[in-house]
Amino acid sequence: MAEQLQAREPSPSVLLLPLPLQGPINAFLKLAHLLSLCSENLKITFVNAEFVHRRLPDLPSRFPGIRFCDFPDGISDDEPRPPAKFCGMVAMFEAEVISALPKFMESPTSVTCLIVDGVLTAVGKKAQELGIPVVYFSTLGPCCIWASCFFVPKLVDSGQIPISKGKDLKESVSNIPGTETTTLRWCDLPSICRTDDLTHPYVQLVLRECRDLPNAQGHILNTFDDLEQPLLTELRSLCPNLYTIGPIHLHSRTKQQPEAEQLVSSNSLWEEDRSCIAWLDDQPSKSVIFVSFGSIVSLTIDQVLEFSFGLVNSGIRFLWVRRPGSIVGVEDGCEESSLQVPAEILKATQERGFIVKWAPQEEVLAHSAIGGFLTHSGWNSTLESIVEGVPMLCWPNGIDQLVISRFVGDVWKIGIDMKDVCDRVVIENQVRDLMEGHREAVSQRANRLSKLAAQAVREEGSSWQALHRLIEDIKFMRLSCRQ
Ligand code: UDP
Repeated sequence: MAEQLQAREPSPSVLLLPLPLQGPINAFLKLAHLLSLCSENLKITFVNAEFVHRRLPDLPSRFPGIRFCDFPDGISDDEPRPPAKFCGMVAMFEAEVISALPKFMESPTSVTCLIVDGVLTAVGKKAQELGIPVVYFSTLGPCCIWASCFFVPKLVDSGQIPISKGKDLKESVSNIPGTETTTLRWCDLPSICRTDDLTHPYVQLVLRECRDLPNAQGHILNTFDDLEQPLLTELRSLCPNLYTIGPIHLHSRTKQQPEAEQLVSSNSLWEEDRSCIAWLDDQPSKSVIFVSFGSIVSLTIDQVLEFSFGLVNSGIRFLWVRRPGSIVGVEDGCEESSLQVPAEILKATQERGFIVKWAPQEEVLAHSAIGGFLTHSGWNSTLESIVEGVPMLCWPNGIDQLVISRFVGDVWKIGIDMKDVCDRVVIENQVRDLMEGHREAVSQRANRLSKLAAQAVREEGSSWQALHRLIEDIKFMRLSCRQ
C-alpha cells in the first residue's frame, strides 16, 4: 500500500512563507537552509514579498537548492516596511498568496506541506481547505505566544482588556491558569493588551492569530526545550505537535561547512557596516555594550537624546546601531542637525562610542569585546544574545517584547528589564549595573543557557531531534492528507 502511494504521489514539496519583515525572513531562510541540508529529496520553495527579492537579489545563488518566487505586498517602494503599513501589507500579501495557492498544487511543483508564518493564518486556513497540511512557524517569542493563546482571549472576553484607566500595571495578573509558572504583571502582557480600541485592525489581526493558531498540523518554534520547558508543556496542551528546533541561527551554523558561513549568515535587508568589527577588535574584552533596537522600532528625538546622555554618562564603551529612518520625524542623513546633541556628548561619543546604520549583529554579539546588549527584546535578538552568553539590558517597545523582557529579567535572570522607562539617569545606572555591578552572577547564568543552547542543536540534542522529526513528518503529512 505504502509503495503504491509512493509511486502515485509526487515527491514531498514544501512551501515556506514568511512575513515580509527582517526577523521572520531571517528565521525562515535559516529553516529553509536547514531543510535543504538535512533532506535530500525534499523540494523547497520560498515565497517572499517582491521588495525582499529586490533587496536580496543574491538569494537564488546563495541557496541553489531552494526555489524562490515572489508576490507584491501592496506597497510600491523598496524600503523595509514601517509598522504603520503593517496591517495593509499583511492583508494584501495574504490575498495575493491565497489566489496563487491552487497553482502551487499543480504538478510538477505540487506543494505537499505549507510552512507559514503564524501571523498569516488566513493563508493557513485556505491551504487546509485545499487539502494542504499546514505547519505554523511563529517567529515571535514563545512566551508571548503562550500568553497570547492562554490569557489574552480570556482577558478580552471577560472585559479586563482594554485595561481600566488608573489600574496599577505593576500588579500581578492573577487567577489566570498558567501564571503559576511565572509572575506576569499587567505591564508584561503582549502589547495589544495596552490597547484602548479593540476594533483597531492590528488588535483584530493579533486576536485572529490567537484564535486560529492552534488549528494546524504542527507548530515550529524558534526555541529549545531547556529554555522554556514549563511553558512549552502548557503550550502543548493547545498545540500538541510542537517542533522546538532553535536557536535556529545556531542550528543552521552548526550544520553548514565552515567555509560557507559567510554565504548563509547575511540575510540583512540593510547593508551591513563591517567597520564596527574592526573597531571592536581594538576594544578590551567584555568592555563594550552593544545597542540595537532591531528592524522595526523607531525612537523619538527625546528618546535618542536620553540614550545618548545615559550611555555617555555611564562611562562604558558602546556600539550603537541607528537604522536609517529609525528616528521619528528625522530624515536619513539629517540626524546630527535634528538631534542637536550637545558638543560634550558628541565628543565623548567619538572617544568611546561607535555608531553604525546596520551591523552584522550575530558576529557583533559573538565578539569578545562585547559584554552586554542594550536591546528592544525582539525574539531573534534575545536568542542571538542567549547563544553568545551576553547579558541584556531590555528596553522593550511592543509586540512580544514586553513579555520577553520579563522572562529575561525575572525568569532566566540574565539581564535587567527596563520597560516603560526612558530616562538618562536610569539608563546610566542600569548600563553600569549590567556591565559592572551584577556582572558575575548574571554572566554565569547567561553562560549556562548558552551551553544548553549549544547542546540542544548538537547531534541527538532536543532541537536536532525536533528538526529531524519535522522532516520525517513533512513526508508523512503528504501521505496522510492527500491520499
Ligand atoms: N539585526 C542585524 N543588524 C542590526 C540590527 C539587527 O542583523 O544592526 C538583525 C538581528 O540579528 C535580528 C533581526 O535583525 O536577527 C531583528 O530581529 P528581532 O526579532 O530581534 O527584532 P525585530 O526587528 O523583529 O523587532
